[in-house]
Amino acid sequence: MSKRRRMKALHRACVAYGEANLRKLKGYHIGGVTAVLCRNCFRRLKRTHSTKPRPMSIPPDKLEVVTDALLAEVDLLVTVAESRMRFAQALINRMQREALDPSPDK
Ligand SMILES: [Zn+2]
Repeated sequence: MSKRRRMKALHRACVAYGEANLRKLKGYHIGGVTAVLCRNCFRRLKRTHSTKPRPMSIPPDKLEVVTDALLAEVDLLVTVAESRMRFAQALINRMQREALDPSPDK
């Protein structure tokens, strides 16, 4: 199955920002589950996740695998939470501007 078809089958938009252009979407794998992110969110998440501790054993033991999956999930949740916070702040800013300068058609 092509990447585009996989993305379409999984989800149609980035879970953080809602980007829906299939060419900009990537899968982020967490413990057997795939979340869909746009390239920007994927890069941001990978940067965050790259700070995880180095593997303690090769191959990693079960606890390390579970810990890695938990950290990846936390990174994803933080990315989504931060995007929601930026969106909420943008709405607050808009409401404040409109309160200061209400348009006559409201
Ligand atoms: Zn995104």
